[in-house]
Amino acid sequence: MTNQHSRAYWEERLAGLLLARGHFIDGRGQPAVSGRTFTRTRPMDGQPGAVLARGDAADVDRAVAAARTAFASGVWRGKEPLEKKRIMLRWAELIRVHGEELALLETLDVGKPVQASLGVDVRLCAEGIQYYGEMIDKMYDEIAPTGPKARALVRKVPLGVVAAITPWNYPMIIDAWKLGPAIAAGNSVVLKPAEQSSLSALRLAELAIEAGLPAGVFNVVTGFGEEVGKPLALHMDVDMVAFTGSTEVGKLVMGYAAQSNLKRVALELGGKSPLVVFADADLDAAASAAAWGCFYNSGETCHAATRLLVQRPVQDALIEKIEAVVRREIVLAHPFEPSAQIGALIEAEHMDKVLGLVAAGEKDGGRRVFGAERVLSETGGYYVSPGVITDVTNDMRIARQEIFGPVLAAIAFDTEEEALAIANDTIYGLAGAVFTRDMDRAHRFSEGIHAGTVWINTYDMSNFATPFGGFKQSGFGRDRSVHAIDKYCDYKTIWQQFG
Ligand code: NAP
Repeated sequence: MTNQHSRAYWEERLAGLLLARGHFIDGRGQPAVSGRTFTRTRPMDGQPGAVLARGDAADVDRAVAAARTAFASGVWRGKEPLEKKRIMLRWAELIRVHGEELALLETLDVGKPVQASLGVDVRLCAEGIQYYGEMIDKMYDEIAPTGPKARALVRKVPLGVVAAITPWNYPMIIDAWKLGPAIAAGNSVVLKPAEQSSLSALRLAELAIEAGLPAGVFNVVTGFGEEVGKPLALHMDVDMVAFTGSTEVGKLVMGYAAQSNLKRVALELGGKSPLVVFADADLDAAASAAAWGCFYNSGETCHAATRLLVQRPVQDALIEKIEAVVRREIVLAHPFEPSAQIGALIEAEHMDKVLGLVAAGEKDGGRRVFGAERVLSETGGYYVSPGVITDVTNDMRIARQEIFGPVLAAIAFDTEEEALAIANDTIYGLAGAVFTRDMDRAHRFSEGIHAGTVWINTYDMSNFATPFGGFKQSGFGRDRSVHAIDKYCDYKTIWQQFG
């Protein structure tokens, strides 16, 4: 992480921020058609935060119309590839230049340490826009094999208007995962950020205009899922919806597409990822990966390693080492403190859900070894300490439901076959990991885990070159990598006959 400013520095910067915001439609801020607003509560101290436009179907209509007009005019997709690339690279650079401001907005909304917002979220957001910007002048169409009297061009064309609906856990990063490939492919986008995390999206849209992206290509409508997300996913003039969020809402979104115009759907959904440790593993490496893999971002990570599957003889030693990593490295503090490694949960209701699932875990027979309780309540914020529950079996609620909090459920196993069966006994298939010194087993096991990403002797390592997404009810379609562009395009054949 790059920044070591004091808490006072961030408090001072906060005082200068503009926190009353409208939608961003057709290149400018606009109030809701209804005039309504809503107030975000700050997770770090429970105080009122930003005041935002509360959108509804009328605002969605305006944003989709602006996006359609921009698309139809060709003002973006018709530009020279080099010019489009320059604009996206400038946008990425502006994100970096305004990194501290974006980090502060993100932290204000979601409660994660501002250093993490700056060192991870802002950095990866800029990298995402840059990655897809750089692809723009390197994408070729095809000429299909035909007889000599014909020429068949297979063109990869943008879809038109893409709706992006995103969650609150890594807002800027996930926005970039959608905006980068969708815009690079030539589409226009209407983004609906989670109601909890609109500020960074609105600022990204302003920076895009400053970089030279034409008005209407990237629009943001703020508000609630039922009031903005639903009409957007139902809209007859939206060609695709790229959704990241819960499996429950993902199913609704797919239904909306079916009920309306059969728009394409890409779904990045939930997870309950297993991290499997065999007795021959490097236990220090496994403990570090298990702790950071579950507790980073306060466990509010779709691929958080929330199920620890550990071979019985090393269970106690591993849990002790995980506790040592937490005590030594994972400082929970106010998000402006330079020492903070993790901060607050997103809101009071979510904190209650996490603590409720911990209570259910104990009621079902699990044993809380440490942590997993509310702390720093005197701040008014929503902080839960990282914790481990052992004696869990895979049928317990804490092993089956996505917790989205800093709580690790440890399940003991005896044999490799048993471990694989438990690892795959979940509705999700987002990620997993195996720790062992036996490379034959590592590869056998990683092939066996039915998930979009499997790590060997590490966790949560990735870069933009690798696709990310899930199997089973973790969704379909992939973010990141060159392949992500494909879902924002379609093939069009142009057949020419000679003579
Ligand atoms: P969520 O409740 O499903 O919300 C996601 C987005 O959908 C939000 O913008 C939300 O708006 C909107 N929404 C809610 N109801 C809707 C409806 N009826 N129609 C259309 N849109 C609607 O998820 P979340 O709580 O924000 O995020 C956490 C979830 O995201 C977890 O399940 C996590 O695993 C998943 N996630 C997955 C990935 C991945 O890449 N696989 C990455 C990150 C997160 P409101 O905020 O206004 O409700």
